[in-house]
Parts: sequence; structure tokens; C-alpha cells
Amino acid sequence: MKRILVCEDENAIREFVVINLKRHGYDVIEAASGESALDKFRAQKEAVDIALLDVMLPGMDGFSVCRELRRHSPTMGIIMLTARTQEADKINGFNTGADDYITKPFSPAELVARVEALYRRVASSKKEDDVYLQEITSGEFVLDLRTRTLKHRGVPLELTQVEFQIMEYFFTNPNKALSRNDILSHVWGEDYFGEEKIVDVNIRRLRMKVEQDSSEPHHIITVWGLGYKWQA
Ligand code: CA
Repeated sequence: MKRILVCEDENAIREFVVINLKRHGYDVIEAASGESALDKFRAQKEAVDIALLDVMLPGMDGFSVCRELRRHSPTMGIIMLTARTQEADKINGFNTGADDYITKPFSPAELVARVEALYRRVASSKKEDDVYLQEITSGEFVLDLRTRTLKHRGVPLELTQVEFQIMEYFFTNPNKALSRNDILSHVWGEDYFGEEKIVDVNIRRLRMKVEQDSSEPHHIITVWGLGYKWQA
């Protein structure tokens, strides 16, 4: 069962979202506030695969809900709903651990495509049996494909699903310049609707985790005008 938590205070938008997700086979948990979303999440016995969180909520905002959910589940997929004017919010959202964002207003087709793309990533990460390669070592880093964790000198670094997939792509292509578009189609899928900028915000967050000084990266190197390169 595909299970999704939807947190949106505007009834009309929430209903529109819920109807479209149900039509595509999702079991939907609905909440009209951040507080209620967290209560329902904690009361939920079954795993929640995806959370769709509006940024602007009365009381607790969507970013705080995102941060709290991330603390409980590093592997859950999280999508933020932002208004067109909230450009800066997108960046904030990624710092709190969101995987993607959808700008309002959006069509049912866009909503479903984005949720399904993230669901596929979350679901594929659960199928550990499919993995024949178990570990990839790169310098002082070890990527464990079964537990989906990254270790630096034996110390585990917590990664989101998207961050893990970017690292996996880097580790299997060391010292190779990868364009934003390569990373985007490899990690987000060929059918991704969003912008290339999502790669940069995830890289910025990864650097904070893997670099000693994220302003002077020695591992995730910027290749000007193209993208990024991994160096062990
Ligand atoms: Ca709102």
C-alpha cells in the first residue's frame, strides 16, 4: 500500500490533492495543520512513504513539520508545497530535509507525476534483495548499499534518499564530471518536471555533511558551467 501524509490548511486545495492521490491508489492521511499532521503521523502504525507539506500553515509551519518528520524517518520522501512567490522558501525547505517541492498552482498531472517519481525512489530503496553489490568504498568513505548509509572513517552520516542516490552516482563515477542534467535524470528520473536548481540545493546540503569545510569543498567539486565531480 502506498501511504501518504497530506498537510494543507486550505480545504479546497487539500481536497483536490486527496482526491487525485486516492484515484492513483494512495492511502491518504489528511491534516489541516502541522500539529495535527504530526499527531496523526505518530499515531500511524503502518509506515508512511511520502509526506506532502504546505509551507504556509497556521501555527507550526511546513518546514518545522518537515524537520520533525525527518527526525523520525530519514528515508521517507518529503515534498513541500510552495507558493510561486516563496522562492527563498524552497532553499529553506531543502535545508530542513525535503526531497522536492511543487509550486502552486499545480495540475493534477504534475502532482501525481512528482509524487509517483518520489514514491518509486522510496520504494526501490526498500528492496534490499535486489542489490548484489553491497558496499562501495571511495577514499575514507564507505557507502553501504544494504543499509543505505554513508560512513566517513567509520562514522555514519545521515542521508536522505535523494542524497544517498546522488552519492551512489558519484561513487560509481569517481573523478568524472557529471552535468546537472546527468544527475537530475539519474536520480530524479527522466520524467522529472522540476528545475535543475534542485541538484544544487541537494549538493549544498551534502557538502555540509561530507566536507570538513563546505565553503572549500575537497570531495564534491564544482565543474563550472557543467555540474559536479566526486573526488575521494
Ligand atoms: Ca497554506
